[in-house]
Amino acid sequence: MASMELARAIAGEAWTSEGAYDTLRELCDRFGHRFAGSVGEAAAADFMAERFRDAGLTEVHLERFGYLGWVRGSDRIDVLEPVATTVRGLALPYCPAGEWVAEVRSVGDGEADAYAAAGAAEGALRGTIVLCAAESAGRGGKPSSHRRDKYMRAVHAGAAGFLYVNQNPGDLPVTGGLEGGGSHPAPIPGLSLGFETGAYLLRLLDRGPVHLRLHVDATFPQVESSNVVAELPADPSSPYRDEVVLAGGHLDSHDIAPGALDNGAGVVVIAEAARILAEVTRARGRGLARTVRFVLFGAEEIGLLGSYEYVERHRDALDQIRLMLNLDTTGRGAAGSESIIVSGIADLVPWFKHLSARHAYRLEVQDRFTSSSDHFSFAMAGVPSANVGTSETTAAAQGLVGRGWGHTVADTFDKANPKGLQSASMVAAWVLAAAADATDWPVTRQSPAEIEAQLRATGMLDELVASGRWPSKR
Ligand SMILES: [Zn+2]
Repeated sequence: MASMELARAIAGEAWTSEGAYDTLRELCDRFGHRFAGSVGEAAAADFMAERFRDAGLTEVHLERFGYLGWVRGSDRIDVLEPVATTVRGLALPYCPAGEWVAEVRSVGDGEADAYAAAGAAEGALRGTIVLCAAESAGRGGKPSSHRRDKYMRAVHAGAAGFLYVNQNPGDLPVTGGLEGGGSHPAPIPGLSLGFETGAYLLRLLDRGPVHLRLHVDATFPQVESSNVVAELPADPSSPYRDEVVLAGGHLDSHDIAPGALDNGAGVVVIAEAARILAEVTRARGRGLARTVRFVLFGAEEIGLLGSYEYVERHRDALDQIRLMLNLDTTGRGAAGSESIIVSGIADLVPWFKHLSARHAYRLEVQDRFTSSSDHFSFAMAGVPSANVGTSETTAAAQGLVGRGWGHTVADTFDKANPKGLQSASMVAAWVLAAAADATDWPVTRQSPAEIEAQLRATGMLDELVASGRWPSKR
């Protein structure tokens, strides 16, 4: 275990630097958006590699990979009946190009029972454009389904199109990848609408049939993204020096905003944790017992491509990784509201609770297996993983539901909270130092059978098998 002395040094470094906030300002204001495969993403990768070098890290390099990209053109939604007008929409990444005319049907919040009530199984939605609410606070305490689940229900119902309505007012269509990211166009068009546009269409639907024409331009060029990798090497005398603790988070954003919170915040928390750990180990003249590797993934938003690529490329070395700590939207709210969410590994919960007690710092620790960020690529390969979350988000404090400003044009630097970033950087550095120095690390890599049981229990198995991602290649 990392000593209390080290923990205090980390806290001191974290609270006497605005490094994370300053780096976030640069990241947001210099490169525009960082959509997968864009020039902004590539320039930001070089910029962050330079930050790692400045912090004194080693092995700093980019690992490039190619795939089928998506570039937005113009899009347009015309209301044909009962009135002739145009409303604003936003094509979702991997939306195919084309023009479609069809009647609209509402499927409420897009959950499975709402689709059933709309007659999905009886063919009532075949050939229609399905309209549903985006992720929200959920129903009856249950979290809302992911966008892709709601979209795939429309595909399976034979719908001709999919409209996805933000539940936060302010004319903010909420973007997010459809099915097929990195390999093929999505099967049916999907566009997002602002809350007000969705409400308008629902009022028209109350009076009778509504017909729309969707027009989307998009291209699918072959593009490149990259993962940015850097290391803080283990102390050469350590018996654990061949083992690794990995901190990861995605560098890419969507193409409509700089993604200050999703995931600029996580990126700068990783860079700040790297700087802090390099500084405190240099000051004490001894490295951590295990190497800490920092990886900024490309192309997460369109389907976890960067982390999946990392796992495939380094499959022979995954046994070395004791923990993958994912930082996605970490630090997007109040200081002190960090939580640890371990991915289906109950034995890690007491370890994190013990860390929280020892540092006299209250961390909520949960065990929840989820698929919506880069930890999942590692979890599928059996590597123990956890996420650092933020429970009191700035967006929630303002009454926003779902992703808040995430995935909208409003995910901009002005939403960042400097103290939240300092606090999250301290927690990330504490966790990485404690895991890197642990002599009582409680878990090992999971077997394919254990992972498959998790996937089945959480209802993810069928879709992963259908999409060819399970069983994994080895
Ligand atoms: Zn994210």
